[in-house]
This record gives sequence, C-alpha cells and structure tokens, in this order.
Amino acid sequence: MALKIMHWDIGGCEGCSVSMLRSIPMLPEGTEVKTMYTCDNIQEIQGGDLVFISGAVCMDDGESVETLKMLREQTTIVVAFGSCAAFGGITRFSRGGQEPYPHHRSFSPINRVIRVDYSLPGCPPPPQTIRSFIVSYEKNDENRLSLFRKLSSIKKLSGFDLLDEVVLTGLCIGCGACEISCPTNAIRLIDKVPTLITERCIRCGTCYVRCPRATKILVSGGRRE
Ligand code: SF4
Repeated sequence: MALKIMHWDIGGCEGCSVSMLRSIPMLPEGTEVKTMYTCDNIQEIQGGDLVFISGAVCMDDGESVETLKMLREQTTIVVAFGSCAAFGGITRFSRGGQEPYPHHRSFSPINRVIRVDYSLPGCPPPPQTIRSFIVSYEKNDENRLSLFRKLSSIKKLSGFDLLDEVVLTGLCIGCGACEISCPTNAIRLIDKVPTLITERCIRCGTCYVRCPRATKILVSGGRRE
C-alpha cells in the first residue's frame, strides 16, 4: 500500500523541504507527501503513516516543545529529518540575541524531547537518501533500516567523531567518501588521510554517516551514544 508522509517543519532553513520536494518524482508510485508548518492543524498529522520532522527544537520556545510532544502522541512512526532535527547541526552554534527572538538561545535535536524511531541526517538529506529510506521502510528491509534506527538515539555527530573513532584509531581506508559528502568542504584528504578544518564543520554528521568504517561501528553497536 502506498505511504502517506506528513512532513512537519518546526523551524529549519527549508533546505530539507526543498530536498523532500526534489525526492517526490523518485518515490514509489502513489506515495503522498504533505509538508506542514506551525500554522497548520496538527490533528491532520493523524492521517499519515510516517511523520518526518525537520529543524532543531528551540528549548526556550515552549510552544515548539509542546508541539513536538503532541506530534509524538499522535503518530506511530517519527523520523528526525535532516541533521538539525537529528543532531542539532548548525543550530548548536546559536548563542541567541538575534531578532525577532533574541531570547532563543538553546537548540537541541528532537530526540532530547521525544522518542524518535528513525533519523535521516544530511544537510539536507539528498533525495536519493529519502527514496532509499522509504523503499526500505515499505519493504520492511531491516538490514537497511538498521542504520537509520541506530542514528535515532544519537544526540550529536560531527567530523570530530569521525576523526576520533575512524581516523585516529587506524580504521580509515582512505576512500574519500567523507571528503565528497561534506557540504562545507570541512574535510580534505591529504596524502589519503582525512583532515578536518574545524571552523568549517557544521556538526551535520554527514561524513560519519557516509563513511563505510564509521557506519559499521554504528550498526554493530560499537559506539557510545
Ligand atoms: Fe577514511 Fe571513512 Fe573518510 Fe573513507 S569515509 S576516507 S574510511 S574516514
């Protein structure tokens, strides 16, 4: 049966929404996608099979925190969609003081407030990743879903973790997947060794998720959360 995906945006930059739009022609026939915002009726969420939530949650914004809890109560499957929702991403750098909400200082991944079933990181997640997840979910392909499930309980992931857990431990094979996947060119391979330009890392975790060595650590349960 074709899936109905409800996408609720709690305050992202809209990159995830654009990626979702781009994915629609690639999704299995009949898949429905509806993007909703805080001005929409939250009750409509109940009509969906999966709820994708994009954007980090502002912990100084009680309304967003309550909305998240209501979304969790009204749905069976919640997907943290994009690196901000999954790990906090670039919003972790926020120190507040900006108009129109100068009191908004602290942003967190949504799994600090509610239980999440799957996470699709990426800044934004590419349409191919969205398709891969949807197809795997429809087929109940546990092998492929296991990575998305493992990611759902992790609260931060970045190039620093890749360096600590793969490069400095000698597990790196120099494949270059981390360099190619980084949206800000924060990782460069120098003599086949990944090097992190720390001030460019936006904590999206994309390099970690694309690294074949790191994902093995994740799926085998060998990583601290
Ligand atoms: Fe090394 Fe992983 Fe980067 Fe490949 S993706 S070069 S294995 S750190």
